[in-house]
Amino acid sequence: MTRSGVIQRYSAQEARLEPLAVARPRLPTADAILPYLERIDTARWYSNFGPLLGEMEDRLAARFGQDTRVVTTVNATQALTLALQAMDLPQGTLCAVPAWTFIATAHAVAQAGLVPWFVDVDADTWMLDAEATRAALARAPGAVSAVIPVAAFGRMPDLESWKTFQDATGVRVLVDAAAAFDAANDADLPLVVSLHATKVLGMGEGGFLATRDQALADRVRQQTTFGFDGSRDALRVATNAKLSEYSAAIGLAALDSWPADRLRWFMTAQTLRRALMPTPEVRFQAGWGERWTTSVCVVDLPEGSADAVEAALHADGVATRRWWGQGCHLSPAFITAPCDDLPNTRRLANATLGLPFAIDLSPSDIARIADSLTRALAR
Ligand SMILES: *Cc1c(COP(=O)(O)O)cnc(C)c1O
Repeated sequence: MTRSGVIQRYSAQEARLEPLAVARPRLPTADAILPYLERIDTARWYSNFGPLLGEMEDRLAARFGQDTRVVTTVNATQALTLALQAMDLPQGTLCAVPAWTFIATAHAVAQAGLVPWFVDVDADTWMLDAEATRAALARAPGAVSAVIPVAAFGRMPDLESWKTFQDATGVRVLVDAAAAFDAANDADLPLVVSLHATKVLGMGEGGFLATRDQALADRVRQQTTFGFDGSRDALRVATNAKLSEYSAAIGLAALDSWPADRLRWFMTAQTLRRALMPTPEVRFQAGWGERWTTSVCVVDLPEGSADAVEAALHADGVATRRWWGQGCHLSPAFITAPCDDLPNTRRLANATLGLPFAIDLSPSDIARIADSLTRALAR
């Protein structure tokens, strides 16, 4: 550490700056939820697909193309699991997933009775590439029945190439668009979005499947409600994964404020991008805060600098997070799962860092992040 680094760190401590959290979710206020709660009081309908949940699903479906069905679930992990189960894939076969994703993707695969096969992501998009995955199929250590491309931190993959992949290979494609509430608008391939508190549109816990495949939507719906479909006969082995009217009240309030919130997310991202213009070696995901928005800011740092940058930011009270750790393939739960060569995943795990980001991150907090980062990189 340089001498000036010592002095600057000392001053940050002297100033007793509050630690800057990596995320600070903001969900609808009690006031915004109240009118919906009053509707529940009047209707006395508390769960099992009441009017509020119906309205929420209609409003979510309207964000996609015509004929899109939305099936809400208690969270995105359940939606992924149930969608895979509804596809009736041969048990024990492989489902290709990126090693570079949140662990929930792998859990969903295992819960659906499939085996995750970790494959590498593209160096630039940080996502599975349809062509590269097709080539990788020839090296698979067993039969591959499905693949889950993941929208990395909210950036959508190229869906056209995945439709081509599915048509050419017969391998079913399910898109994990958990963090892509903003960017997901095409449900030609089934996709799952999370409404968790830490995501860009949060309602606490919640998620949904969007699909134009009516039969798939019907099956997933049955699976969220004991296998029932209009009677009390269980048509298939299922679970209970439905949302209550209280959850829908929060979801509807969140949807009401989404157009304004979305602009705020973009404005905050633009301010952060501008503050980091003097350090072009800190690279954002393509389109982040410009074409699409999300609740996290993950930057790609110069080779070999991430550990030192992270330590310097922490010393300045600026939190960081490696949202996806070292990659799913290295987590103890999946250490024995098969994996392909993963050079890009390894690089990303060592070079990317989640910076503090929030819908209302203040200009002074942004300046503090930029300052700390600029000094760290200058060392
Ligand atoms: C958040 C996330 C999930 C899990 O969503 P939950 O609603 O919390 O279950 C799954 N996959 C990815 C890529 C995520 O970012």
